[in-house]
Amino acid sequence: MKYSDVQNYIQGQFVPVNLEFLDVYNPANGSVISKVPLSGMEQVDAAVKAAKEALPAWSSLPVKERVQVLYRYRMLLEKNIEELTHLITEENGKIYSEAKAEVLKSMELTEFACSMPQIVAGEVMEVSRGVECRIEKYPVGIVASITPFNFPNMVPNWTIPNALALGNCMILKPSELVPLSAGRIAELLKEAGLPDGVLNIVHGGKDTVDAICDHPDIEAISFVGSTKVAKIVYRRGTANLKRVLALGGAKNHLIVMPDADLEMSASNIVASMSGCAGQRCMAASVMMAVGKVDHIIDRMVSFVKNMVPGKDIGPVISKEAKARIEGYITEAEQQGAKVLVDGRGTVVAGQEDGFYVGPTLIDYVKPSMRIAQEEIFGPVLVIVRASDVDEALKVENSSPYGNAASVFTESGGTARYVIERASAGMVGINVGVPVPREPFSFGGWNESKFGVGDITGRGSIEFWTKSKKITTKWNIEAGTNWMS
Ligand code: NAD
Repeated sequence: MKYSDVQNYIQGQFVPVNLEFLDVYNPANGSVISKVPLSGMEQVDAAVKAAKEALPAWSSLPVKERVQVLYRYRMLLEKNIEELTHLITEENGKIYSEAKAEVLKSMELTEFACSMPQIVAGEVMEVSRGVECRIEKYPVGIVASITPFNFPNMVPNWTIPNALALGNCMILKPSELVPLSAGRIAELLKEAGLPDGVLNIVHGGKDTVDAICDHPDIEAISFVGSTKVAKIVYRRGTANLKRVLALGGAKNHLIVMPDADLEMSASNIVASMSGCAGQRCMAASVMMAVGKVDHIIDRMVSFVKNMVPGKDIGPVISKEAKARIEGYITEAEQQGAKVLVDGRGTVVAGQEDGFYVGPTLIDYVKPSMRIAQEEIFGPVLVIVRASDVDEALKVENSSPYGNAASVFTESGGTARYVIERASAGMVGINVGVPVPREPFSFGGWNESKFGVGDITGRGSIEFWTKSKKITTKWNIEAGTNWMS
């Protein structure tokens, strides 16, 4: 094996455990590169104990002092970007440029956390004569972050810098499919001066997550993953009286109007459906083709046919994911849809055991088909024909998800019409992947997010803090009335 067994990280140390282990694969060639332990309550409890010890000192530092660690961490991400990129590529399979973009995004997320002192500077106001109200933000305490496989470096960095800058101590539970990047994040934070116990990592799967949801000393849980598990974590965590913010899956609709710019639209749509092999919760999944847009579809077909698997597009995460995605394509074809470009059976020379699915375009899909309704999480775009924008919006609105939606048009009026009616938390105009950049917040609607607030940016601050409202009256001349 290329990497030694993955270890939990507790109190600033990697600790060996005597547990059951799962294989970790390199999806590009199917080889086993490491093994990851399946932790339970005992390991979660050890991490919580370490966090508890670290919490008083860390939470009582002024925020300006806490972010000094994050300034140095940001520089270390940059210094080590090649190695971090390589690690993402190995455990997740995404191509070099995508993996590097992930680390660049982690740097941007950390930069936002570094600006926390300016952002959380309190509110103060004289509310009646001689009486002042102010708000101070306090850490929630010990918090947990549970992350998915598709961004091994970026998604942990959605939560770690903000939660730590705001004075919390964290237990991170990375996806068992991609556990390697998390260890490097912990090492770099330690090198940056993070005190031991402020960030702890417990590896595993369902049992680890259940233990996090049940542990009485964990105050808040953020979760990013599928809707099925987001619901489980939200229900179990809130039943145990914790705050929970659980981001789920997606089925993103791109509405393409006949007036859309040909080259820009075709290239953006293809990049959205194929980037990270379609394994993004912001990926284009359904194209609502409004009226005469065949010229745009033809251009998309030529872009997709030119993509080289293994070079322009990486593998999907597992053998099971490949089989599931190919199954969806076959079912749609059997139900009468027209496969314009077929990614089934893709084999990359020299990487014959890799989990590749080529980029796939399927036309004449009916909104009632399973492929148009369920999250595929692979490089597959289905095209549903609509006669006008209202018909397209009706299909978008009927999805149980609500992460992202986009419209491609040259008309400001049409764009505004879609912005107001799309049932999604993140909307793009001529943007295939409308991820809000810092300081704007990331978060969807409907079954793409459970809980209040967003996971990044300003929207995350309320989640990671408790506010204390202080009313002060030093001035004896201030009268006494029912308000004060
Ligand atoms: P997943 O739900 O299978 O796993 C996410 C986490 O939950 C992992 O850490 C895993 O160990 C744990 N887990 C899995 N099954 C569990 C169970 N039964 N009980 C408790 N915990 C369990 O998700 P994934 O396959 O790793 O990631 C892909 C999914 O994540 C897609 O649905 C994608 O849309 C979604 N995602 C959403 C966002 C967003 O911002 N909304 C971002 C990235 C990924």
